[in-house]
Amino acid sequence: MKPAAFRYHRAHDVTDAVGLLGDLTAAGEDPKLIAGGQSLMPMMNFRLARPTALVDLGPLRRDPALNSFRRNGFSLTIGAMVTHRTVEVSELGPDFDVLSRAMRWVGHLPIRSRGTVAGSIVHGDATAEWCLLALLLDAVIVAEGPRGPREIPAAEMFRGFYTTAVEPDEVVTAVRFTRPSPRAALTEFARRHGDFAIVDAAVSLDGEHGRLTGGRVVLGGVAPAPVRVPEAEAVLDGGVPGPELFAACGAAAAAAIDPPDDAAGSAAYRRRLARTLVTQALHEAWEKGETR
Ligand SMILES: Cc1cc2nc3c(=O)[nH]c(=O)nc-3n(C[C@H](O)[C@H](O)[C@H](O)COP(=O)(O)OP(=O)(O)OC[C@H]3O[C@@H](n4cnc5c(N)ncnc54)[C@H](O)[C@@H]3O)c2cc1C
Repeated sequence: MKPAAFRYHRAHDVTDAVGLLGDLTAAGEDPKLIAGGQSLMPMMNFRLARPTALVDLGPLRRDPALNSFRRNGFSLTIGAMVTHRTVEVSELGPDFDVLSRAMRWVGHLPIRSRGTVAGSIVHGDATAEWCLLALLLDAVIVAEGPRGPREIPAAEMFRGFYTTAVEPDEVVTAVRFTRPSPRAALTEFARRHGDFAIVDAAVSLDGEHGRLTGGRVVLGGVAPAPVRVPEAEAVLDGGVPGPELFAACGAAAAAAIDPPDDAAGSAAYRRRLARTLVTQALHEAWEKGETR
């Protein structure tokens, strides 16, 4: 498969990328940024996307601010051009190591070596691990555009089927994770290793001394965009961590969702997966905290 014809431009820095997007749009083009190309190129090859011009962000990898991690107090900022693989092999510390551990679920090594954190979040696949993690750890998406810089909370980011709050003339420069979570886990089910998940679940647990003060439950593959499940989170609040509570939380998650019926799985199948995966992830998150 080949993409439709497009013009190619290279951005030298963020200002250049924003300028190119503006100039190309003003000239009647339909431009798109390309970072790792691991989602955009397949979409172009299948002619599901037909931008008339690509603005390549590749050279921005040389900018240390866009290709590094920064710890600032409780938060962790990841530059937009950091790849999945860099996160996978980095020591992020107990507060954020769920990010590294989750990366093994993202595609295959060549995809993880090219695909970027920002590309994944802007693409907005409902099962993309980064999208779930953004909701789990209260990420803030930092974007630069012709109207200046802007911060988008993850809770406002995922608007629907492959639709996010980032405007076509904006460049994401970083993703800041503001909610450290030493007891957190992501797990999923896909038909083959490396495929996108049919359903995935990311959870975190808060609490001390054998009683929970709360937790988060995020699901992918059960709606057009990744979702938090407040009904399942309510089960965790004040509960005693253990198999009974985790099973009840999984059941509450399954009961609360209205998943799609499609070729990858029926609604009933996805509901069963959600129940199992939430329960499994809660066990993993709790055990991970115990081994600190
Ligand atoms: C076979 C295969 C399996 C995969 N499996 C998984 C999987 O299991 N889980 C998963 O999450 N992903 C999976 N992916 C997708 C992969 O993770 C991509 O790397 C990721 O979704 C997009 O990142 P990218 O850097 O390649 O972005 P690109 O493909 O370059 O761009 C994706 C979108 O983001 C926009 N964009 C990119 N960078 C920016 C920026 N800085 N600012 C604003 N907009 C930007 C682009 O314009 C485009 O719309 C898979 C891909 C393949 C080919």
